[in-house]
Amino acid sequence: MSAASSPGAKRIGVFGGAFDPPHNAHVALAQAALERFGLDTLYIIPTGQAWHKARALSAPVHRLAMTRLAFKDVPRVVVDDRELQRAGPTFTIDTLQALQAENPQAQLYLFLGADQFAAFRQWHRWQDILELAIICIADRAQSTLAQTQFDAYTGHANRFFTLKLPLMAVSATQIRQLMASGVATAKGIAQLVPEPVARYISLHQLYRSH
Ligand code: ATP
Repeated sequence: MSAASSPGAKRIGVFGGAFDPPHNAHVALAQAALERFGLDTLYIIPTGQAWHKARALSAPVHRLAMTRLAFKDVPRVVVDDRELQRAGPTFTIDTLQALQAENPQAQLYLFLGADQFAAFRQWHRWQDILELAIICIADRAQSTLAQTQFDAYTGHANRFFTLKLPLMAVSATQIRQLMASGVATAKGIAQLVPEPVARYISLHQLYRSH
């Protein structure tokens, strides 16, 4: 048995995203992850300009600030800016390897939504990711998990778990669109993002159309 799977090994969760902006489903996912998997620490990792997102993201400084605000009251969360600091494309495998090196005894758990999982086999070195981390997938309203999606991973079945949480239809795209259309003020998105995030968006006039 490897050290990583020893009983009592530290459990470290990793949850990455553009967080442009972070919203209530991200926070709900983090809370459920901490609780269901008994995590010691959950790293929230805003991504750099990810290779698979065509859209230019908001400035790292804003996404990092909003992510810190969104998760500030969630215990055992560490918002980690290492991917924002990295020059060039950022890959999840590099982050996982770094975290494993920093925590050699720990078992890593990688959390993602079902939409991301649908494209998982296009991720850089996905087989190495599977070696390093247990993959925990949350259903999304527009992208629910089908058992057939796991058929491609025969031999790795024990590396996947689903994270049950109530379906939440919110997306960052929806929030950006609401703000850009001018129909929403900070008040208008108050149901979708944590309150300090709504205030930050308003203060910095993010997602306004030009
Ligand atoms: P966008 O609309 O810009 O694509 P997003 O809402 O998907 O953004 P991301 O920051 O890209 O937000 O997502 C980070 C992670 O959170 C991804 O793994 C994504 O699948 C997951 N996620 C986002 N929204 C939800 C949701 N409503 N339910 C479950 N998982 C979600």
